Amino acid sequence: MTPTDPRAIVAAKRDGQTLAPDDIEAFVFGYTRGDVTDALAAAFLMACLLRGLDDGETLALTRTMVASGDTVAFGDLGRPTVDKHSTGGVADGVTLVFAPIAAALGLAVAKLSGRGLGHTGGTLDKLESIPGLRTDLEPAAIARQVAEVGCAVAAQSSNLVPADGALYALRDATATVPSIPLIAASVMSKKLAVETDLILLDVKSGSGAFMKTEADAATLADACLRLARGWGRRAGAAVTDMSQPLGDAVGNALDVAEAVALLRGEFVGRLRDLALWFGARGLEAEEGVAFDEAMARAEGAIASGEALDRFGLMVEAQGGDRRVVDDPRGVLPAAPVVIPLLADRGGTLAAVDAEAVGVVSGALGAGRIRKGDPIDPAVGLILRCKIGDRLTVGEPVGEIHARNDDAAREAARRVLGALSIVDRDVPAPPLVHRWLGADG
Ligand code: URA
Repeated sequence: MTPTDPRAIVAAKRDGQTLAPDDIEAFVFGYTRGDVTDALAAAFLMACLLRGLDDGETLALTRTMVASGDTVAFGDLGRPTVDKHSTGGVADGVTLVFAPIAAALGLAVAKLSGRGLGHTGGTLDKLESIPGLRTDLEPAAIARQVAEVGCAVAAQSSNLVPADGALYALRDATATVPSIPLIAASVMSKKLAVETDLILLDVKSGSGAFMKTEADAATLADACLRLARGWGRRAGAAVTDMSQPLGDAVGNALDVAEAVALLRGEFVGRLRDLALWFGARGLEAEEGVAFDEAMARAEGAIASGEALDRFGLMVEAQGGDRRVVDDPRGVLPAAPVVIPLLADRGGTLAAVDAEAVGVVSGALGAGRIRKGDPIDPAVGLILRCKIGDRLTVGEPVGEIHARNDDAAREAARRVLGALSIVDRDVPAPPLVHRWLGADG
């Protein structure tokens, strides 16, 4: 018999039974309406975490979460629409670089983003460090901007997937975040609620990611792709490296300055390479361009200045100061104290505790512990060394940008403590561990 009492639903999952879609819907809607208590919902989440959810249950949970709020359709924008989503990392400003590259390649990026939480940064927080820039755009304004400029990055409305908002807050408070089906349903509900032709998923693995191992990240990527398939949506997923901060800047304004430098062609590195890689995968999936040719076109979009131009147009269309593309230092907020970060040991950088580095940046004021906390756009840190680099004692490996000297010195101490330095050669980790191709 199908249990309908919410306690019976929790007991069924506790005992390892498979839940019927109607029960999942009744339970989740009951929770979002306030009929199911936090205590019972927490027990439900823990039972799901410990017993797991099969594909049918995960799809039912995802459907219920999507149905709890608005969905967004942009209509025909005259170009293929692409959404790219990262599961969250440190120095992960891929969207800032990817969106203008993809726009320059003829794709349309209509992206609804979230804010940073815990040790991970958020694209909206980074963009909002540009004076005047707004992210509270209505769907019609996003569609207009994307048709004209090719890209828009906006905040998801509070009524997009509200059930995920409620459940995620409870998971955060009850140690029930690290469940692959719960994460897959949470991530994909927000993607499936927005109609785009292609979803590209950047599933991070390593010390700065939710998934610490490549195997877990691949399992999550696969679960997300199965949900997209079950929904009839086209998606591709990559497992990418988060064993160290992806870019150099870990903050907000600092990340924007880095993105501008990459788009200006003044600087290269893993962040640029991954943004190009996703741009090329988008072009390959939507326009059938061979991957090597697509990569060459993506690089051409930077070399020609077209991607930088798209970034400037996007900033201007969203009310921001477009001079940021010519003079980021003159436009972006700056921290009053900047100290160099000097290597305290010589040898080869073998590992970075990327989560610890993200936590240090958050402690400087660049991140938030709880939803709604204010952030300081100017502070953060720059870490220029990557795994495999040879370091000598006293060599400058970055900078700390802080509100005061004490905070800067404490941050420097903690960042240096997050670096493992050894006396042997260490290979650089690959940037992309696996590509689970775009289908659907
Ligand atoms: N990001 C999400 O959106 N949801 C999760 O559960 C974890 C990461």
